[in-house]
Amino acid sequence: MKQSTFFDGGQRLQMTESIELTMESLQAYGPDHPHWGIAWSGGKDSSATLTMICWLIDTGRIKAPQTLTVFYADTRQELPPLAIAAAQIMDELRERGIQVEVVTAPMDKRFMVYILGRGVPPPNNNTLRWCTRQIKIDPMEQALRERLEQLDGQVLMITGVRQGESAIRDRRIEMSCSKDGAECGQGWYQQVLPSAKGLRGRLATLAPLLHWRVCHVWEWLKHWAPQADFGDWSTAMIADAYGGDEAEEINARTGCIGCPLAQEEKALETVLALPHWTYLAPLRGLKPLWRELREPQHRLKKAGLERLKDGSIAKNPQRMGPLTLEARSMALDRVLGIQGACNAAAIAQGRPQISLINVEEEARIRELIAAETWPEGWDGDEPTADTVMATVYQNGAVQPLLFSEADA
Ligand code: SF4
Repeated sequence: MKQSTFFDGGQRLQMTESIELTMESLQAYGPDHPHWGIAWSGGKDSSATLTMICWLIDTGRIKAPQTLTVFYADTRQELPPLAIAAAQIMDELRERGIQVEVVTAPMDKRFMVYILGRGVPPPNNNTLRWCTRQIKIDPMEQALRERLEQLDGQVLMITGVRQGESAIRDRRIEMSCSKDGAECGQGWYQQVLPSAKGLRGRLATLAPLLHWRVCHVWEWLKHWAPQADFGDWSTAMIADAYGGDEAEEINARTGCIGCPLAQEEKALETVLALPHWTYLAPLRGLKPLWRELREPQHRLKKAGLERLKDGSIAKNPQRMGPLTLEARSMALDRVLGIQGACNAAAIAQGRPQISLINVEEEARIRELIAAETWPEGWDGDEPTADTVMATVYQNGAVQPLLFSEADA
């Protein structure tokens, strides 16, 4: 006898209702915009959005726009199973004649090159959240600007923002990607892009899966979208990467491997629990490396009061700054070591290899280190941040050391 599943009966009805609501939102807002774009990261929510829309168009349930462009945000930091699934889905989109653009930050702005080459410390939740804008939002803005130049009329940018029912009742759009279940960048696409320079007035955004529950996303990716009737998409690997049959229980966020802003690496750990992905275990070394790099011995600091370009005094005298050249070289070796260990195991087991830093990126990082490149406002002569020195306050007052080194 067939076992009953979570999606029998009432739950399936809810799923059908969720799809109906998605169709209604697209029918209501779609026709006003001759051109549609889809902001896709390869994560679960935006992949569900993308494949659902293609299926609704293919089956005539919604009217196709004049043009449809899929913008794949490739941060070069994606979890390998998601990156592989994204590559397959891109092939499937192109086979259908859908235009796909791969959107990547310029070389010097990429996560690894910016940290290891230029010396900017890894992002954190408090003072330095540079990454989402730099590796996702700015490149997407640029790609959209270029696409808009080729088109007349309004563009509807479709995002994978998904909030579930309670948040919709509260009319909240969550911007935090460190929140469980959210897909990093999607909230920003939703809120920040429409007001960006060059896009204002020509771009509207729509999140047609806003109301979907996470179990519906898994159900779609794993059981519906891979069927021929729903488009024959390579989405099962995305659900598998989050834990296969247990995926429905896991509301995992989607973002970069080793994201310094996420509390735990739920997505990576779930991938590593699957026998055919355990060879990627060395990736666990990335998150501790980013944490270690934020420590004082790897960074410079301002020695005293700092005068800014506009003549004012910086608010935080003796602030910690960029990574030392030694720290960058050490970290580059560690990342290449992690990549090498994964790929040696991949070759031995006949599994896919990964690319954390490619040949061009490594060459650029080495070039920037050799040229002693520092972020703006720093010249490399500053002391390392673990140097013991008198405290300087913003008003110029100095608190001398209680014990000089000679007393110690
Ligand atoms: S996933 Fe983490 S590291 Fe990647 S862009 Fe988002 S916040 Fe930054």
